[in-house]
Amino acid sequence: MQKAEVKKEVVHDANIPKVGRDVPAPPQEVFPVSPEVCPYLQPATGTFPLCTRKEVRAEKALVVSIHDVSPATRAGTERILADLKSAGLDRASLLVVPDHHHCGIVSGDPEFSKWLAAACAQGHEAVLHGYFHLRENRRTDGPIKRLITRSYTAGEGEFLDLEKAVARELLERGRSAVEACGVSVSGFIAPAWLLGAEAGQAVREAGFQYTTRIATVSDFVTGAVHSSRSQVWSVRAGWRRTCSLAWNALLFQKTLRHPLTRIGIHPPDWDHPAIRRQILKIADMALAGREAMTYEGWLTRMRVKPRSY
Ligand SMILES: [Zn+2]
Repeated sequence: MQKAEVKKEVVHDANIPKVGRDVPAPPQEVFPVSPEVCPYLQPATGTFPLCTRKEVRAEKALVVSIHDVSPATRAGTERILADLKSAGLDRASLLVVPDHHHCGIVSGDPEFSKWLAAACAQGHEAVLHGYFHLRENRRTDGPIKRLITRSYTAGEGEFLDLEKAVARELLERGRSAVEACGVSVSGFIAPAWLLGAEAGQAVREAGFQYTTRIATVSDFVTGAVHSSRSQVWSVRAGWRRTCSLAWNALLFQKTLRHPLTRIGIHPPDWDHPAIRRQILKIADMALAGREAMTYEGWLTRMRVKPRSY
């Protein structure tokens, strides 16, 4: 027996506006978003407004920082910047070490000074990053401090436990040296993000506008502390690289909805293809919905428009 053909008729409810007939279809590059993503929600109408991708993108930022920038790492830094540019990222915060491992003051290297000034003129930012980027081991160090300074930072946590007067002197000398390259400096970031209490006070008193730690960005102008965990890779051993790849993949997923994504790159990261590929991939994915900014640029915007946080 032949089955009777059942013809489904789609009936349009006249009370429901039909896109294309009663209301115009949204133009391309315009899409509805939830209030968490877009602050332009109009509560009076109770509807999600239509935001352009550009507007939504402007509410979320990506800050890439390159650590340990100095004459000794300039070639590596240039390579990283070139690869980032190919991925569509045209600005980064450059964490400059004034006298990296006692290898010479940045302002004493005309080629480096010229290069740094040109990079900042193109939109990058120079940030003071310690002075020597070294912390000498002390006989008084207990087991926990030894673990932090030798295992976590390989002896580079310079500002972990400096006395305030010593920190102040290094900060002033360091800022003068970097600014002598022809750039302005508004931020200080401690090596390995380890900033002790006395050194932290010295940073604020020296007039720096912000600092960052691994999980926060502190704005000294407004007093705001923005939570945002930085992605960072440890490449000193195979097991560290394996753990870093897994951890950063997870962290990127966990911070997708956060207003600020941070990527911290160290020059040795680029010697490891799997790490380099992951960083570039994460930057590429982040740029699909975020604007690339420097820390200075992002904080300046947050001071004007704090509602997006
Ligand atoms: Zn560093």
